[in-house]
Amino acid sequence: MEFVKLIKKTELLSPPDFKPEIQEIEYRRDPLTGSTCVINIKRAERAKQAQRIADVSSEVIKETKKGCIFCPEQIREETSKFTSNIHPEGRIERGECIVFPNLFPFAEHHAVATFNNAHFLDLNQFNSQMIVDNMLACQEWMFAVHNSNSEALYPIYMWNHMPPSGASIVHPHVQALVREAPTAAQERLLSKSKEYFESRGQNYWEELIETEKEISERFISENDSLAVIASYAPRGFREIQFIFQEASSFTDLNTKQISDFSAAIKKVLQGYKKMGVGSFNLITFSGPIGKKLDYYSLNAKIISRPFPQGVYTNDTGTFERLQDEWVIEFLPEDVAEKMRESLST
Ligand SMILES: [Zn+2]
Repeated sequence: MEFVKLIKKTELLSPPDFKPEIQEIEYRRDPLTGSTCVINIKRAERAKQAQRIADVSSEVIKETKKGCIFCPEQIREETSKFTSNIHPEGRIERGECIVFPNLFPFAEHHAVATFNNAHFLDLNQFNSQMIVDNMLACQEWMFAVHNSNSEALYPIYMWNHMPPSGASIVHPHVQALVREAPTAAQERLLSKSKEYFESRGQNYWEELIETEKEISERFISENDSLAVIASYAPRGFREIQFIFQEASSFTDLNTKQISDFSAAIKKVLQGYKKMGVGSFNLITFSGPIGKKLDYYSLNAKIISRPFPQGVYTNDTGTFERLQDEWVIEFLPEDVAEKMRESLST
């Protein structure tokens, strides 16, 4: 396993006195996929014209609550229902979580799952139980979909929190998908992991955990269920990976593994909150339902997104959208150091 990096220096004369300043530009390559990113930590110091505010304004919460279809007053009247082959009652409920079909799907099987009745939850307000209920309810829906269509094989658990992450609704919720074909990224991870296994005789993900633990620059924590590591070559700010020890699909996860995953997410969100984060994306990269793969381990990534406010500086531009080159402002090693504290409690 190789962690390839190339450091270049760039010199400029910076105002106000135009003295020479040298900045480091670090190019990194993902050890499995070869996906590249470029890191300049000085970019985090940019005086962004849209300045971050400390908290989401209560005005925004109040305004978006009016007519929110995920709030308890409307959810049962305003959201759609599954057909009876998926669920006899049309929606799956567990605790305060409700799972129902996405009204505007981008997959043949695409659901939405709320966490609870609260219209807004800040990052430090999610507790493990809400996440557990949400994940188990999504799993129940995934199994129901798979039972009704055996070709629906690739589950995705996806969580966009607050509008800068792509979420159109403030009320906390996740999306669950089951596709007949994997996404391009998922397909690449599966095929590269298989190649790795065939040429080296080892599961890449198990080796990654061992190697990262040994180096201990990006390793954050580990238990029987999963390891938490800051990604070597991130595709998002403050990117953290969750890698499972004994599962290759999201639907393989048992109650204990889901409980450990939820606890780890809760702690990462608390760590993000301390770093001033107010929006994030989390997504799983899952093998197929019902097929345990020895060359692949279920993994998930979480990244921070710009703070929710009226006008903000987006964290992705043309390089990310059109060149597939990820410009990053934070060193993974610094993210790991800050996050270790939150995960150790
Ligand atoms: Zn709401």
